[in-house]
Amino acid sequence: MNTEIIKVDPIEPDRKSVMRAARIIRKGGIVAFPTETVYGLGADAFNEAAAGKIFEAKGRPRDNPLIVHLKGAEQLELVSLVNEEIMNVARKVWPGPVTLVLPRAHDLPDPVTSGLKTVAVRVPAHPVALALIELSGTPIAAPSANLAGKPSPTNAKHVIEDLQGRVDAIIDAGETFFGVESTIVNLAVNPPVLLRPGALGTEELEPIIGKITVPEEAHGYESEVAIAPGMKYRHYAPAKRVVLAGDRKNYLKILERSAGCGIPAAICSEEMKPAVDALGIRSIIIGRESDLYTVARGLFSSLRILDETDADFGVAQPFDERGIGLAIMNRLRKATGHTIINSPDELPHALYRQC
Ligand code: AMP
Ligand code: MG
Repeated sequence: MNTEIIKVDPIEPDRKSVMRAARIIRKGGIVAFPTETVYGLGADAFNEAAAGKIFEAKGRPRDNPLIVHLKGAEQLELVSLVNEEIMNVARKVWPGPVTLVLPRAHDLPDPVTSGLKTVAVRVPAHPVALALIELSGTPIAAPSANLAGKPSPTNAKHVIEDLQGRVDAIIDAGETFFGVESTIVNLAVNPPVLLRPGALGTEELEPIIGKITVPEEAHGYESEVAIAPGMKYRHYAPAKRVVLAGDRKNYLKILERSAGCGIPAAICSEEMKPAVDALGIRSIIIGRESDLYTVARGLFSSLRILDETDADFGVAQPFDERGIGLAIMNRLRKATGHTIINSPDELPHALYRQC
């Protein structure tokens, strides 16, 4: 398949260019596009065959439902059952990086919701995504635009790496704004439950939604039960093995010893870099600990960069779990396949190496 690359400005996208992509959506094609969180791979949410193509292109299991993207809260009743309370929440959190799980409307095709009685919905806060939804004249169903299992794409280069030749078009508008996916809250139950931590912290959402239940699994700990469909699958993982230090205080000790197990790459903060340099170990900087938004933006790129270096494995530093930090740690724990180590002695087992 020939994949058209359409370059647009992220803030003032050229309408004619976005229209080219919208025409593809209208005709039942699939298009990767930027949102403020990560790039999505979209199809007309009411076209069953088109939504099905998303699963093919990504290699995504069919029981992992998509998020329906709307151009505004007023479109909500097209896809879900609504009441005054839900509309109030929707108007306050959107456009923004928050996905609400709500009882679904009857006529959504099955691939979008994986046959569930609920649907995940959001209005993205990105000029290109909003223009695309508006010009397509239909809600757009989209998961992240990566191959299943890989880190989510935060720029068009990542999307091209994973999906060139597998999708009809890729809209390139540079880097996304947050770098981690939306926060998913289930409003179909009372009290609401956090299904996935994301760009907006629960601290910021509770004044609008009320008390949100945060299950243990939201931290990204290994779990037998998936709190949301699809969460049981391998996620965010680079090809190379990554271990995560359980505690910031042990990080340098673990890192130092890891150099005896092969060639490590330190996946760490700018603040940590001087100490890592002093050990003579290469670093891949995620962002600044003093501003976790920079860490969120650099997270998935740093995991992809690891695969491009000649390091044998990555050793990641842990971060504060407040605000967007909960999403960062959730993704890191999953990216490492839950390989969290608390002392250097655990390295040989964690890395399958003698050291
Ligand atoms: P992605 O954008 O790639 O993160 O995929 C969307 C995610 O939304 C899925 O992995 C699901 O976990 C979640 N999701 C979609 N629909 C529902 C739903 N009806 N109930 C709970 N979670 C959902
Ligand atoms: Mg995804």
